Amino acid sequence: MSISDEDLLAYADELLPADAAVQLEAQLRDDAALRERLQNLLDQRDSGAVSVGEIWRHERLSCPTRSELGLYLMQALERKRADYIAFHLKTVGCAYCEATFAELQAAVAELDDNPQDSRRREQLFASSAGLLKKDRSPDPQ
Ligand SMILES: [Zn+2]
Repeated sequence: MSISDEDLLAYADELLPADAAVQLEAQLRDDAALRERLQNLLDQRDSGAVSVGEIWRHERLSCPTRSELGLYLMQALERKRADYIAFHLKTVGCAYCEATFAELQAAVAELDDNPQDSRRREQLFASSAGLLKKDRSPDPQ
């Protein structure tokens, strides 16, 4: 697997899907040259010389966020946005989002075996919590 600068920076910014991040992390552990490359990229970016992270974001600008994918999976998105994400996954076939979506699906499938375990579901979609909390009454204190 060849690793692009964008992948390295996405990893540093924690933008990679979890399994891709784990793979890259393993490669970084074994590959000093790769670590150096990542460090150089981060140095360059910090100094403002290049903004590869910005390029990465620009290229992936059309990607929904992880929490949006979670909401899409739970069919909690407004129709227009859900249609867009369906298009992005099925027609565009974005590998990044497919990986994230598959990961969320697997996690939810596991939860469906334990429907009483709503606490874990909340943790899984923690980043969606702000959006979902609107429908819920606040915790009594
Ligand atoms: Zn995408």
